[in-house]
Amino acid sequence: MKNIRDFELSELEEEMINLGEKKFRAKQIFAWLYRGVNSFDEMTDLSKDLIEKLKANYTLECIFLDDFQTSKDGTVKYLFRLVDGHKVESVLMKYKFGYSVCISNQIGCKMGCTFCASAKIGFVRNLTPGEIVGQVLKIQEHSGEKVSNIVFMGIGEPFDNYDNVLKAIRLLNDPKALNIGARHMSVSTCGLVDGIKKFADEKIQCNLCISLHSSRDEVRTEMMPINKRYSISEVLDACREYIKKTNRRITFEYALVNGVNDNREDAIHLARLLHGILCHVNLIPVNKIKDGKYEKSSVEKMMKFRDTLNEKGIVATIRRELGSDISAACGQLVRDKQEQ
Ligand code: SF4
Repeated sequence: MKNIRDFELSELEEEMINLGEKKFRAKQIFAWLYRGVNSFDEMTDLSKDLIEKLKANYTLECIFLDDFQTSKDGTVKYLFRLVDGHKVESVLMKYKFGYSVCISNQIGCKMGCTFCASAKIGFVRNLTPGEIVGQVLKIQEHSGEKVSNIVFMGIGEPFDNYDNVLKAIRLLNDPKALNIGARHMSVSTCGLVDGIKKFADEKIQCNLCISLHSSRDEVRTEMMPINKRYSISEVLDACREYIKKTNRRITFEYALVNGVNDNREDAIHLARLLHGILCHVNLIPVNKIKDGKYEKSSVEKMMKFRDTLNEKGIVATIRRELGSDISAACGQLVRDKQEQ
């Protein structure tokens, strides 16, 4: 059976027409979906007849809260169960500007980044738009807070689930749905060049983040096997094309790993590579994962790396580490549960 949460309003209108209903019913149903209802019976302005038709043709629930962990800094990591029993996770973070949610878009991930707990889960399937947006709805319901920012940095590679992620973005952005500004959403890719090019042509103002993590192909290939398919120069060419078309600044994510990509020469090399690209570098300490071989760089080394980039004219900041006392590495909570 189709899940009613997977539809945009225009699609739901077609569904209603196919059911022999008036088109405007779709608007009523769509509004209910984003008011936090968990059953068709709660849609009190619909006739009993229509409610029965909906029950016979669609499912409504697609994601259930399974567990959560709260960090001392207020960050909450959620574990969600899907209808087929698989699990995904999301994180709620509190910032000065409001609440931000990091969401998953796949069960597991094919990309195999060697520093990532999600890669070790193994790829199962793509999440549907309803399951992606459902994470935000469930978090709002649980926390009682209105989410203002979304980052696609949880489990999965967004451009490997392109159509569903784009539909989820449109639903999150729709004023009749969650009404989250496109500029308040960020999509992070490991560097799928075709996806970057396609994203450049979307008429949507979302931010694009690229997980770069090294300026040298041999080191990046070791950390991110996707680099064998798309080298750093191919990724950066796609970024230049994206900026030319959108005039939007790109964020490069750089996880600092002790002794691997964090010395002064690495920073100088990175600055040279990014010269002339409208960008910002976000430095993060690599997350320590179970059986992982990488260690975080020291705070001092991170600061030196940032200062070198800044000296060379590249805007770089160190991202505040949130939720460090809980299983905050992406995919770690799912792995913890798999091992229990
Ligand atoms: S870092 Fe992202 S792209 Fe790489 S394996 Fe993890 S989830 Fe996939």
